[in-house]
Parts: sequence; C-alpha cells; structure tokens
Amino acid sequence: MNRTVSKAKRILGVDIDNVLAESDACLRTMIRQRFQIALDEKDITQYDYGAYGVTEEQLVEVFNLFNTDTCRTLKLIAGAKAALSRLTARYEIALVTSRNPASKESTEYWLKKKSLPYDQLHFNDEKHALGIPYYAFVEDRHEHAHRIASTGATVYLMTRPWNAMPLAHPNVHRVASWKEILRHLL
Ligand SMILES: [Mg+2]
Repeated sequence: MNRTVSKAKRILGVDIDNVLAESDACLRTMIRQRFQIALDEKDITQYDYGAYGVTEEQLVEVFNLFNTDTCRTLKLIAGAKAALSRLTARYEIALVTSRNPASKESTEYWLKKKSLPYDQLHFNDEKHALGIPYYAFVEDRHEHAHRIASTGATVYLMTRPWNAMPLAHPNVHRVASWKEILRHLL
C-alpha cells in the first residue's frame, strides 16, 4: 500500500489594497470627483487622505461607498494575477486586509471576478496578531510591514510614496514589482 506523505504548504500573507488592487488611484478619483480635492500619487507620503485636506466626514463617506460598492470595480496591480497564479501552487495564500468587514461581500465579488486564487481571507487591521504563521508577506504599508516582520516573517514591501521612510527591520525588503517578488519566492 502506498503511503501518502502530505507536506503542508508554507503560508504567504498578501495584502489587497495597493498590492493586488489599484486602490489609491480609485480613492483619489473618488475624492476629486466628490469634493474637488485633487491629489497626486507622489504627494501621498502618508497613507491618510485626512492629512491632505479631506475631512473626517468626507473620509467616512468615501470609504463607505468604496467598501460596499466601488471596490468591485478596482483595477489589478500589474503582474499581481500572474504572480498569485504561480505562487498558489507552492504556498497557502492568506489574503489579509485592513478593509472594514462590511466590504466582505464586495471584496469576495472582486476576487472572484478577477479570478484571483486564495485559501484564506481575513479582514483585520492587526495583521501581525492573528496567530497566522506567515512564511512571507507582501504589503505596502510601512507600519504593517514592520509589525509583521517582528513575527519572524520575511516581508516584501512594495515601494510606494507612502512607505518611502527608511526600513527599520532586517526582515523587511523593498521590492518594485510582483516580478521581483517572484524571483524571491519561486
Ligand atoms: Mg495595502
């Protein structure tokens, strides 16, 4: 009788906004159309539109609409789909997003529409504290990257204007693209 040896796959954590989806561009368009506040990507050196003249009330309005509706229309980040399609053979893919859980239905709709493979989906801002033993993680937020790196995971930080500050943990590595991430993970 053959003995089947099953080897558990290592877990790759992957953020959604600005890692799989072009969320910042969409949010800036919403802010410009609704409130006539024009923001360029290069100027977003903090990932907080409140720092650029958008009021708390306006932010609530934009994110309510984004979470329940607009996020269904997001464009994919270049190379994201091809990369996940290859990585899923080798890793258990855990999508971990800070999005409000109210976006669950729309987020699942978008993931299905874009045919993105994944094994787990979590809505939680405390990505590092979920007890998930990440082998590696792909992220765009500087603070998340560093907290996750402290758990022992290798973190690939996709360079964007809002994470340009110096890196402060040896497990955090800057990358420019999914192509570069594949070179590390395959
Ligand atoms: Mg993100």
